[in-house]
Amino acid sequence: MARERVRFAPSPTGYLHIGGVRTALFNWLWARKTGGTFVLRIEDTDQERSTEASRQVILDSLRWLGLEWDEGPEVGGEFGPYTQMERLGLYKEYADRLISEGKAYRCYATKEELDAARAELKARNPKAEFRYPGWWRDKGPSDWLEGKPYVVRFKSPSSGAISYDDLVFGHVTTPNAAQQDFVLIRSDGVPLYNFGCVIDDLTMGITLVARGRDHMVNTPPQILLYQALGAECPKFAHLPMMLAASGEKLSKRHGAVSVEEYKNGGFSPVALLNYLVRFGWSFGDEEVFSRAGMVEKFDWERCNKSDGKFDTKKLAAINHAHLKDPALTPDAEYAAAVTPFLVARGLEVDATKLLVALPHVRERAKTYLEAAESLDPFFRRELVWDDKAVAKFLVPAAAPVLEELAQVVEGAECTVAGLEAAFTRYLGDKGLQIKDVAQPARVALTGRGVSPGIYETIHVLGQAVALERLRAGAVKARGA
Ligand code: GLU
Repeated sequence: MARERVRFAPSPTGYLHIGGVRTALFNWLWARKTGGTFVLRIEDTDQERSTEASRQVILDSLRWLGLEWDEGPEVGGEFGPYTQMERLGLYKEYADRLISEGKAYRCYATKEELDAARAELKARNPKAEFRYPGWWRDKGPSDWLEGKPYVVRFKSPSSGAISYDDLVFGHVTTPNAAQQDFVLIRSDGVPLYNFGCVIDDLTMGITLVARGRDHMVNTPPQILLYQALGAECPKFAHLPMMLAASGEKLSKRHGAVSVEEYKNGGFSPVALLNYLVRFGWSFGDEEVFSRAGMVEKFDWERCNKSDGKFDTKKLAAINHAHLKDPALTPDAEYAAAVTPFLVARGLEVDATKLLVALPHVRERAKTYLEAAESLDPFFRRELVWDDKAVAKFLVPAAAPVLEELAQVVEGAECTVAGLEAAFTRYLGDKGLQIKDVAQPARVALTGRGVSPGIYETIHVLGQAVALERLRAGAVKARGA
């Protein structure tokens, strides 16, 4: 398989949107699969909206997702710089070349002139779409207004068509009559998207461009530019859109769309990628993929063009599937991921105890946030009491039971099996069932009415803490 050079080219104008992650992911997967290179390029030519903070959020989000780039900001590479505003000289060089070859031209039309022409057209035909009238198209250096601002425009062909084979959408043909003499570089020397993108993809040796299908409209003018430069085009793959349940383009209004929100919500990065890989790609009816599985199975043949609707419930289910399964989320990874959530609850985390506790919360916790909530009583010195559970179960009648349970625990081997054996003996002697004692014990041990199993809870807490809590629970019950 040819080694590909692919790229993700976000504009640093906000957070990293999960739709952008899907695009980054497909490129990253392809690079990893082909032993190729994943390039990160920052397209910061919109100077009003681009910020350093946003750039940092994008880099941090990609790193959290494990979508590490091989070339790009903070990493370097032989085709840098990887930030567009640091490449202005290069764009000018290419624009000047196109001008000298008669394929582009300086246009000195002022905003006032263009506004007037637009207004005049609208007055005649309100529905007409304004196109630049080509005033400077056939002029040359002798006509240039030295010292005056100008933009560089591309001489678009007015006949013929552009065709390409999209890896997802198949054969696409667009008549050139649809193009106007679009601007390559503004008067301040900053390129417009199509030009900056083509010069960068060309000079960075990009072999395949995969991006959202909302960019399909840009592909024909970009191909015209490659042709004008006498360069080979990369392959193109356009990816279907991610929509809200309502069918609109997914945005903040529909809920969490930034990577940070999912990180803070306790999602696993691999689970998020797993959910996103299914947007525009499928592999039979498989839903759950490991990172390595995605790399192994991903290809363009199984991509499809249907837009998809973002489904929060399905994402939660995929996240749960990842968190439940130690093969997908090994203990060490789980522990590292849940620790910050425990620390945020003001808890001091004992790493050994955490590893003992994990198997008991995996099954139920759908997110790391929920896992931290379940793990809380194991790391808290002073229990936080759930008043309702206390009122219901830590009643005077429970006090002697809790005292006896303390004795049982004291005499038991503090393993899940050892505790179970000791409890079974005690319950048998008393003619009781575990359900008769479990709830008061649970509340005494954790402060709550819901927790992992009693034996597991005692095992994780350790004998000393369990005894202390059962006895304190008895005192509390008696006083209630
Ligand atoms: N900066 C563009 C965007 O964020 C990149 C588009 C492309 O991949 O060519 O949409």
